[in-house]
Amino acid sequence: MLFLTSNPISQRTQDTLADLQAEVDQETNFAGKAASAIRIWKNKTNNRAFEEIKAVLISMCVGTEICNYCEQNEATDIEHILPKSFFPQDAFRWDNYLLACKACNSGYKLDQIAVFSPSGSCTRFVVARNTQPPTQEVLMINPRLEDPFDYWQLNLETGMFLETPDEGTCEFQKANYTLEVVLHLNDREALRTQRQMAARDRLRDLKLIVNIHEAPDFATLNQIVNENEPFINLDQNLPLDDLKRNLINNLRSALLNRPHPTVWAEIIRQEATLDRFQQLFNRFPEARNW
Ligand SMILES: [Zn+2]
Repeated sequence: MLFLTSNPISQRTQDTLADLQAEVDQETNFAGKAASAIRIWKNKTNNRAFEEIKAVLISMCVGTEICNYCEQNEATDIEHILPKSFFPQDAFRWDNYLLACKACNSGYKLDQIAVFSPSGSCTRFVVARNTQPPTQEVLMINPRLEDPFDYWQLNLETGMFLETPDEGTCEFQKANYTLEVVLHLNDREALRTQRQMAARDRLRDLKLIVNIHEAPDFATLNQIVNENEPFINLDQNLPLDDLKRNLINNLRSALLNRPHPTVWAEIIRQEATLDRFQQLFNRFPEARNW
């Protein structure tokens, strides 16, 4: 999960969200607000504002329509980061949305939430269904508002996320709850395996890019392309540098749009400890800024 840079929605859609939220807020008690949020959400199918919201959320995805939680599956659902049944006051808040897959949204995340205990300590208070959370201090990390990189690091060898704050801190609790209880990012074996493979794929991508970058002549470049790219035929009439630039741009786009973009972000963050990547970055420093 990566921090999501927000793109703007139109004034008209902002107004629609504000109107729907006002409808929820006018209910006098929590149960009424929760029921109203759920009902209005269900009935929104013909509301054009949500077509725009979905389109903008697609443009904000970490990869090409990839689920922002697992980074593996196609993202299909507008997901409430704070569940509307517990936080009806946030049901129509723009920064409470992201695009997720069905497995993450319905299979894993469910409508569950924990907040920090109202006593002020950093202990976990699991909110019972159909009850109002005692505080707004949720343990779920909201990647629209905070950077998950501040909470954990991916071990590229094992494919497992490890909480980085000290155990016992509020930040550790948030990281642990989000990883293990809400999203199950570590105990889904397929995700761990795919993250490991994603690291290998990026190494191969980067090697190929460096070789293209360093190709001294057309014959060498042509040989590299023949061995690695099934569908590209080089145009001999173009200058070598243009050919190389086009190829690198295509490969860059493929690399950045592969599933598990967190793997690439972690490769850049952890470069100093990753010899093979560091050598390649030294030969082609531009890739550090991708
Ligand atoms: Zn997912």
